[in-house]
Amino acid sequence: AVLYRIDSWGVPYFCINAAGDIAVRPYGAATLPHQEIDLMKVVKKASDPKFDGGLGLRLPLLVRFPDVLRHRLESLHSAFEFAIQSNGYGSPYQGVYPVKCNQDRYIVEDIVEFGAPFGFGLEAGSKAELLLAMNCLSKGSPEAFLICNGYKDEEYIVLALIARSMDLNTVIVLEQEEELDAVVETSLRLGVRPVIGLRAKLRTKHSGHFGSTSGENGKFGLTTAQILSVAHKLQRLDMLDCLQLLHFHIGSQIPSTALLSDGVSEAAQIYCELSRLGASMRVIDIGGGLGIDYDGSHSGGTDMSVSYSLDEYADAVVRSVMLACDRKHIRHPIICSESGRALVSHHSVLIFEAISSSTSKAETLSSMAPNLAYFLDELADDVRSDYRNLMAAAFRCEYETCALYADRLKWRCVDQFKEGILGLEHLAAVDALCDLVSKEMGVADSVKTYHVNLSLFTSLPDFWAIGQLFPIIPIHHLDQRPEVKGILSDLTCDSDGKVDRFIGGQSSLPLHELGGITGKEGGYYLGMFLGGAYQEALGGLHNLFGGPSVVRVSHADGPHCFAVTLAVPGQSCADVLRALQHEPAMMFDALKHRAEECAAGSGDALSCALAHAFHSMPYLVSRTAARAAAPGSDGE
Ligand code: PLP
Repeated sequence: AVLYRIDSWGVPYFCINAAGDIAVRPYGAATLPHQEIDLMKVVKKASDPKFDGGLGLRLPLLVRFPDVLRHRLESLHSAFEFAIQSNGYGSPYQGVYPVKCNQDRYIVEDIVEFGAPFGFGLEAGSKAELLLAMNCLSKGSPEAFLICNGYKDEEYIVLALIARSMDLNTVIVLEQEEELDAVVETSLRLGVRPVIGLRAKLRTKHSGHFGSTSGENGKFGLTTAQILSVAHKLQRLDMLDCLQLLHFHIGSQIPSTALLSDGVSEAAQIYCELSRLGASMRVIDIGGGLGIDYDGSHSGGTDMSVSYSLDEYADAVVRSVMLACDRKHIRHPIICSESGRALVSHHSVLIFEAISSSTSKAETLSSMAPNLAYFLDELADDVRSDYRNLMAAAFRCEYETCALYADRLKWRCVDQFKEGILGLEHLAAVDALCDLVSKEMGVADSVKTYHVNLSLFTSLPDFWAIGQLFPIIPIHHLDQRPEVKGILSDLTCDSDGKVDRFIGGQSSLPLHELGGITGKEGGYYLGMFLGGAYQEALGGLHNLFGGPSVVRVSHADGPHCFAVTLAVPGQSCADVLRALQHEPAMMFDALKHRAEECAAGSGDALSCALAHAFHSMPYLVSRTAARAAAPGSDGE
């Protein structure tokens, strides 16, 4: 636990159980020991066809825990409830979930269902998101907000007004001053009176990566002058009563409550001023920004960490709004937040297998020397003398001299190889010798590369795009000390497809030797945690590796019992081809025809193999899974 810092970033949902596996605690701190779910058992159930009731899904596997999602939602709500009660605040909290964080149908439906008792709503930022939000909220609580953010055209505004006429509590938030005319015209044309919000461009600036949307030069929102102009225009149109909400968003991952309070206070002043100008203000929407402590440091010093708890966040918001409103004798508004990252990050774990690792050599310089001597005679004089000097320096333990000679030897040999003087065997022997020298001198770290059955462009895009770190750890064998330092290399043919930075500033991950783990057979599985927000929505199809298999797992009655309530195989080769306008059915027919023409006699077998290729996932079939599925095998 200490090696992987689970006791910091994992609390209260993840821990290590007595079997040395990661256990999920579906109800957070309220989870009883017998309610913990062993993640390895979930992997077995989902992927191992020989496991009792096994589903035979291929990895990578995304495991969703709706119980964790419910717990996050309830914790957020009760943090605000507590802050409201303890500060004597006069209005409720009514949050919304920004669907862009993860638009998965079941996540959105769960949030609407779990949040219905306290009017929890949704935020949409595009027409497609608005359609899904309208559909989900039709089954939710009538007072839940439907916040319409994002740039809008007339079609978007028509949809939002349809939502309003369907009695969904819809607010059209103006991102730009120009949107007002379209809202007014469309609402008059449709005869639906809109509820309007304004997104303010605050001066408060969040300096981290996620803060580029904030400050005076931020991309979104209305300046002070534009806010005034909108208010005056609405007044002239006799529609100032429609203006009811003030929104701002100073960026995701707000690092500290000091910055948060600064932003909320500035926005609360604008809110009060709009009330003074006669708008029927009743909601302050503080946007997203509630952060996650990805590295468990609780420092707030980087984009990976925040220095506050849910309770401290809620308290800072409530106090700042209350102070501003009390000073100006304005009624306390409903507080709405658009927390996405903090709601969904914990609810899923991505599980993938390490399929091989770079080999480590047990040789030492002195044990290798005699093996290399065999080609000495074939070397030119200058190279031979470098080699002898290198060995002499090595035996005297003169490391710096050694490194010098090794480097010279290597490049002289490379030159001679290019001229055709040395053969491939010579070059390979020299490379091996030089690698060994650097290892013994401690010049090269003995870090192994673990090849993982994953595309980080599909499943961890923020690592590649913005250097975001997520906790990645083995999900089993945690009762055995890992002896190797490793980095991860993914399946894509892209040199960026590797994970070589880890939480806590580490450049490698403590890992177990593949096949060297005592007492257990089978594959070696790693988990990527806290990736439930943004990763699925942002992931792409680099090299045509598609989405992982997915299971939804809930706690069930009985000690350590769980139920898989949904199992969806990952995207097949046909699925990903279709996504790029290829036509797998026609492709199959054409290839089948050609196979039958060219390989008369074995055409059927080839067609069968082709059909299988279209239907299976683009990821590698792990040797463990292949062995388990082989006829006559009795599994593990
Ligand atoms: N609201 C708006 C307008 C956003 O742009 C974002 C994302 O950056 C969010 C809410 C969600 O933010 P977070 O994931 O930090 O809660």
